[in-house]
Amino acid sequence: MEPLIDGHGRLIDDLRVSVTDRCNFRCQYCMPAEGLPWLEREEILRFEEIERLVALFVRLGVRDVRLTGGEPLVRREFPKLAGMLAAIDGLEDLSLTTNGYLLERDADAIVAAGVNRVNVSIDSLQRDRFYEQTRRDALPQVLAGLHAIARHPEISPIKVNAVALRGFTEMEALPFAEFARSESFQVRFIEFMPLDADRAWSEDQVLTGEELRAIIHELHPLEEKPREAHSTARVYRFADGAGEIGFVNPVSEPFCADCNRVRLTADGKLRTCLFSVNETDLRAPLRDGATDGELEQVIREAVWRKELKHHVGEKGFRQPPRSMSAIGG
Ligand code: SAM
Ligand code: SF4
Repeated sequence: MEPLIDGHGRLIDDLRVSVTDRCNFRCQYCMPAEGLPWLEREEILRFEEIERLVALFVRLGVRDVRLTGGEPLVRREFPKLAGMLAAIDGLEDLSLTTNGYLLERDADAIVAAGVNRVNVSIDSLQRDRFYEQTRRDALPQVLAGLHAIARHPEISPIKVNAVALRGFTEMEALPFAEFARSESFQVRFIEFMPLDADRAWSEDQVLTGEELRAIIHELHPLEEKPREAHSTARVYRFADGAGEIGFVNPVSEPFCADCNRVRLTADGKLRTCLFSVNETDLRAPLRDGATDGELEQVIREAVWRKELKHHVGEKGFRQPPRSMSAIGG
């Protein structure tokens, strides 16, 4: 089959699938304290519907699928869904992004299902500061989950992601650097993006990857590794020892030119950019009995219209109606 190509000549072979918009955390930069109005049950794609769409994307050339949310592990029988997707012929990489709260419970089942890479989001290694950011006193539980998944050598790499916020993350840089040096996890800092439900984002709250790199480099000299194709992160190794640390800089150093991704929301909308203001509904044709050929046509046309770049920080930038947890980060 012809590969999926957008109107700017980029090959699309990476799909992020949000399996739920619900979450058991309330991170300051993502959700309001009271939560959000959740999707109704019948609005959410059923496992068989997700499986059919993912299989179609794989036939169109998608090789990597990342499961996300909301919090993917709050979706009932999540490991069963992961197993259904892992069995799709031609899918090379099935990964998961989770807040880790339920990971201790689910680690064995996720590995048995065939997930091969896991990212765990942790904004602070200090309990009170973790609580401040997530509004949940859950650091010990999350670390237990991280270590439960690390007991499985099949899962590699395991990454720990921290959102970088000015006035908060400066103090986290060195503890996370120590963590990356002493544990086998790759730590990555992600710049705060205007996808918070509170719409409180402003550019001065973005602590850039370069600022964090400089803080760490002063104490632990860093050497940049060659950038892998389509990698969103600049990855560094420590010059004097083990460990890696990465910086995902979508605001200060956009990587749109190389973007190979699209996203499927929990309610079956195709999004061609995190910051898309338009979405393409795949659920309606799916439920109306569309053939694979008809769905393929809808997908190809949407992908063709993929945005050239995001406009964060530019005059006239509009935050998309959905926030991060409802998009699937
Ligand atoms: N709940 C899971 C988790 O937190 O890992 C998966 C979904 S969450 C939306 C995916 C990632 O997006 C997390 O690493 C989270 O920290 C990040 N994120 C959420 N809101 C963000 C924002 N406004 N800017 C940058 N990253 C954000
Ligand atoms: Fe939930 Fe993840 Fe958003 Fe935090 S970042 S509120 S864990 S979806």
